[in-house]
Amino acid sequence: MNKSLDVLIIGAGPIGLACGIEAQRKNLSYQILEKGCLVNSLYNYPMNMTFFSTSEKLEIGGVPFISHNSKPLRAEALEYYRRVTTSWNLNVKLYEAVTEVKKGKYFEITSEKNSYRAKNLIIATGFYDLPFLLNVSGEDLPKVKHYYDEPHPYFGQKIIVVGAANSAVDVALETYRKGAEVTMVVREPEINPRVKYWVRPDIENRIKESSVKAYFDSSITEIREREVDITTPDGPTTLDNDFVLAMTGYQPNFSFLRSLGIVIGEDEMQTPSHNPETMESNVPGIYLAGVICGGLQTNKWFIENSRVHAEVIINQIVDSQ
Ligand code: FAD
Repeated sequence: MNKSLDVLIIGAGPIGLACGIEAQRKNLSYQILEKGCLVNSLYNYPMNMTFFSTSEKLEIGGVPFISHNSKPLRAEALEYYRRVTTSWNLNVKLYEAVTEVKKGKYFEITSEKNSYRAKNLIIATGFYDLPFLLNVSGEDLPKVKHYYDEPHPYFGQKIIVVGAANSAVDVALETYRKGAEVTMVVREPEINPRVKYWVRPDIENRIKESSVKAYFDSSITEIREREVDITTPDGPTTLDNDFVLAMTGYQPNFSFLRSLGIVIGEDEMQTPSHNPETMESNVPGIYLAGVICGGLQTNKWFIENSRVHAEVIINQIVDSQ
């Protein structure tokens, strides 16, 4: 057991790192624990992904983010956050998931490798770890992916992309352009109106000209090695299929939050309870930072508008000492 820290930060995403920087600025003792690699969520984004934010909006700790184009690539963001971590010499331990937290006088934190004691806890665990499942037979086959990396494996293959929000549309367009035979299966009646305004006409026109097939108001009922059954407004049908890319979104780890005593709202978005002025949750001394604050509303918080949480929280911790 190490001596008691002022603050332990769970998650080394951009916002967890920003919290570490602010803690360091205020001379607080802190430790960041990350279950995967540095900025694990960004690492797991599609390989060729371009951020929708311009690079200066992704900056933390006053470190300039210079990218080749105004909107950086995933690879540039990985490079940037590595540079931030080394230039601030942040206390980050990687591949060390937090598994349990108990509250007594202090928080007693257990990770996969160690145990810690801290006066305050910041939860910056994001929402990218748990995909929404289709819950159909065959979903566990190796050909079904809930994360997409790159188009090459799908060249010449019959693929089904499930969903019609930003990720699904990006995947459908990229795999189509790299030689896959793409069919979209979409529960809703149209492409999600929130799809980036510069991408939406592209997918709509590809569907109109039948370069990409799309079944709207439709859903998958069973996945088999070579085929997939779907229901459509015209009745059930079976599609020949090699891969299913289920781009159906992700959700925060609510059970982890509940295990900490954080109340999850009964609203549709299941917003974790917190005071938006201080970011403190209903459990005194536990703060929420970054996209986790939105619950299922994963389009509310981004890096660009949640990096300010770091300063708010650390100021609050300093004031309450
Ligand atoms: P995350 O980056 O998700 O970090 C959470 C970290 O916590 C992860 O590294 C995870 O491994 C770790 N973790 C989880 N549980 C534990 C545990 N028990 N113990 C230890 N570690 C744990 N936002 C923008 O502002 N601009 C954009 O252009 C943009 N583009 C995006 C594109 C895509 C495809 C996606 C999916 C999101 C995009 N976002 C963008 C949103 C942005 O990536 C997220 O807002 C950002 O990752 C949030 O940062 P975060 O630090 O809150 O969470």
